[in-house]
Amino acid sequence: MESIVDRIRKLRDRRRAVILAHNYTLHEVQDLADFVGDSLELAFRAAEARADVIVLCGVYFMAETAKLLNPGASVLMPDLRAGCPMADMLTVEDLRQAKAAHPGCAVVCYVNSSAAVKAESDICCTSSNAAAIIAGIPATQPILFVPDRNLGEWAGEVVGRDVKCWDGYCPTHERILPQYVQQAREQHPGALVVVHPECTSPVRAMANHVASTSGILSFCRTSSCSAFIVATERGLLHRLRAENPTKEFFEASPHMICPNMKLTTAEKILWCLEDLPGEVTVADDVAPGARRAIDRMLAVAPPRCRKARGRGVDHEPH
Ligand code: SF4
Repeated sequence: MESIVDRIRKLRDRRRAVILAHNYTLHEVQDLADFVGDSLELAFRAAEARADVIVLCGVYFMAETAKLLNPGASVLMPDLRAGCPMADMLTVEDLRQAKAAHPGCAVVCYVNSSAAVKAESDICCTSSNAAAIIAGIPATQPILFVPDRNLGEWAGEVVGRDVKCWDGYCPTHERILPQYVQQAREQHPGALVVVHPECTSPVRAMANHVASTSGILSFCRTSSCSAFIVATERGLLHRLRAENPTKEFFEASPHMICPNMKLTTAEKILWCLEDLPGEVTVADDVAPGARRAIDRMLAVAPPRCRKARGRGVDHEPH
């Protein structure tokens, strides 16, 4: 009997589809995807995908971003329930009120947000370019950063800017407590601590290096150190281990799991390609504003995409 991966690949080709997966998805999903990356890399891949169908294995805002950047493709999610609690911490009404309370602020919006919130913002950012985006805002203009207080605070520190932050956060990264990191350091002396900027300030203070998932991958690949304690969603460790077989990677906490990122499975990808359910769209009154905020980000900080492990960057459907 044909394996599920073979069935997915056959259907993928018949549908002229490309499968994009975030670094936090299940191992089985990462292993069958055409491209695995962070949210900026996925946005860029979606924009240039020459495919009729994009199967987005991640969470809802990523599928919205893919649709905004490639409106001609059908963007499908294998499980539409995969949302982002951080994105849900800020509604468009909340943002309008915050803008009224801080007139004149440049609104920098983390891509982990709804399309409607992006449309109310001046420019988007991801965790890999947040500092560069903030550095590009005129020094005289105050900055309102939404929705992640941890990323906004960190990016402000990096560039020496005072940044007002919305009080949102990623529950998965907030559960990486300093005491867990300390325990990991005691268990693995000599290992470097690498931390995602969605972690809290006390955890970032324990880091040897703070970076986005793509930055963590790059740091661990090029470092002469052979052991790392990793403070971000545990899905990234699959890729770190696959790309660095001679190095060791340890979880900084036993609670580094985003349940939404784990909703996508190989079976759901197969069903998605069989019946084409789960299409994601963006309302016409929101799309132009959201696209403008994303395009401004891409103009300031274009991504550097790497090749997917074991395959070319793009799936070219036959
Ligand atoms: S890891 Fe955090 S920010 Fe990323 S999708 Fe999950 S809840 Fe949202």
